[in-house]
Amino acid sequence: MGVIAVGPLFIISGPSGSGKSTIVARLLAMQDLRLRQSISATTRPPREAERHGQHYFFVSEDEFRSMIERNEFLEWAEVHGQRYGTIRRVVDEWRSQGWGVVLVIDVQGAQRVRQICPDAVTIFVRTSSPTILEQRLRNRGSESESAIQRRLVNAQGELARASEFDYQVLNDDLDRAVAEIRSIILAQITEDAKHA
Ligand code: 5GP
Repeated sequence: MGVIAVGPLFIISGPSGSGKSTIVARLLAMQDLRLRQSISATTRPPREAERHGQHYFFVSEDEFRSMIERNEFLEWAEVHGQRYGTIRRVVDEWRSQGWGVVLVIDVQGAQRVRQICPDAVTIFVRTSSPTILEQRLRNRGSESESAIQRRLVNAQGELARASEFDYQVLNDDLDRAVAEIRSIILAQITEDAKHA
């Protein structure tokens, strides 16, 4: 029986302000990696520059509940007081087409996906000091003061679980962090090719 080739699954987590979205945007632009980012559903209202179906599928609490009932999520979690969920169909379809799929999700989601998909490669992005996180959150200018405070408190909880991940990548320097994750991804692609 032949082995069915599926694209690799990467999970990228890290506190708000760790720069994980910026890193992932750079990686997606590298054609040779053949990566796609899974678009999650969320009950969080869109930020000004965010588009439905591009950054997230923005749904109501009721819609989110129905999606849970219909078993549409690979995982879902409550993060910073809102619900976020990975849509199973999107991930399965792309992986079966040979795309590598990146999930940018929180530590709870990472734990659940690791249980369901033990082949997932998990990466935690961090900064060397909490001050950098705070600066980045403030520079972003998209969150209220109370939302910033909540995200900083949650960052402590996320950092405490960093050791559960396969890799921890320091993002004090963006180019270095991107290069490091790129080599993790390339190593996985090479490894999968050996077994295909
Ligand atoms: P933001 O509101 O800044 O876009 O995301 C807040 C947090 O929710 C981030 O840590 C992000 O990684 C996480 N997140 C986004 N989508 C999902 C998802 O589908 N599942 C889980 N568990 N977390 C998610």
